Amino acid sequence: MIFELLINFCILFTFAVLSYWPFQDSVRSSFPFQKAHPYLIGIMAGFAGFMLMESAVHVTDTIFVDAKHVIVVFAGILGGPIAPVISGLLIGISRILMPDVLTANDILAGVNIIVIGIVLGAFGFRHPMTLKNAHRYFYYATAQCALIFGVVIYNSVINYIQVVYFVLFAIFSFYTVLFILMELTEHFKKIRHTELLSETDYLTGLFNNRKFHQLTETFITDSTQPFSMISIDIDQFKKVNERYGHQVGDEILKELGLRLKSLVSIEDGYVTRNGGEEFVVLLPNSPPAMGIDLGERIRSSVARSPVRVSGDLDVSITVSAGVSSYPDNGLTIHDLYNAADMALLEAKATGRNRVVHYNNQKA
Ligand code: GH3
Ligand code: MG
Ligand code: MG
Repeated sequence: MIFELLINFCILFTFAVLSYWPFQDSVRSSFPFQKAHPYLIGIMAGFAGFMLMESAVHVTDTIFVDAKHVIVVFAGILGGPIAPVISGLLIGISRILMPDVLTANDILAGVNIIVIGIVLGAFGFRHPMTLKNAHRYFYYATAQCALIFGVVIYNSVINYIQVVYFVLFAIFSFYTVLFILMELTEHFKKIRHTELLSETDYLTGLFNNRKFHQLTETFITDSTQPFSMISIDIDQFKKVNERYGHQVGDEILKELGLRLKSLVSIEDGYVTRNGGEEFVVLLPNSPPAMGIDLGERIRSSVARSPVRVSGDLDVSITVSAGVSSYPDNGLTIHDLYNAADMALLEAKATGRNRVVHYNNQKA
């Protein structure tokens, strides 16, 4: 009996991990077709439930103890309300079709699991099942199973100790798997958080230099269309710091970051802070004219409205921008960045508060 229980637990555990891991966004190769996930998890749970029944602990010829209701609960946690309905139906129908000679007990056991699936699905629609609230659904399913099981046993064997075994086994399986899934979730969260930190600039919350390299690399590899890179630098920022203090300087950087983000995201572009008071915008599918146009809109928007800092202080700043475009001005990050930087230097040298494209340099 212990061996059968162990096999049951192993099947349950394997199902839980296989229906959890590949469906997380944060794993490296998650399963595509997001909309199909609940159905897939439901079918997987149905299959796992079938395996559980095949390796069920036979208390008597007609009474099997297994953890199939636990699998329906996990289907609800991992796949949402559709999954327990599908798995409940699959498991229930196969429970009824499985025996060579069908008895009333088989029908009762099959209908029992179908009802559990439907009830979990119905409640799950109103209160989504999560790792945190799943114990309530588990208690309900276990109580219903124990009741049916008890009634069946009462009618045949009169051995309530079997019900106790069943409940203990269900509790052990549920909480062990739940604990492991909670641990995995916590680890995934931490990994995602660390990933975000590694690509975020601490001051502005924009992408950082490291992410700039990654994004540009992807642009270069995937791009069948030209794209533009705009290097933006605040004019005379040292003087702003000297006049208003470093703290105000920081506030200006934050506010400028927000403005750039809102201007650039409309165009489906990316903005990164590459260090100090230097920002870079990557604009997909844009020949030089579009790069210059966005650079010009950024420049004029910054020049037009002063930055409000520390409550009531308005500080006027301007920015200069250098633009380069792929593939005309370079095929590598290094070349494109250098081209944008040279254009930026010319914008600075010719009076600041200007936008210059590498193609239109005078020097
Ligand atoms: P230019 O018009 O030629 O760009 O003049 P600039 O003074 O902006 O040029 P420069 O690059 O020499 O100076 C950049 C200044 O930006 C230096 C530093 O005081 C300031 N800066 C860099 N990073 C930060 C930061 O994180 N916070 C603040 N407040 N200031 C910064
Ligand atoms: Mg500057
Ligand atoms: Mg600078």
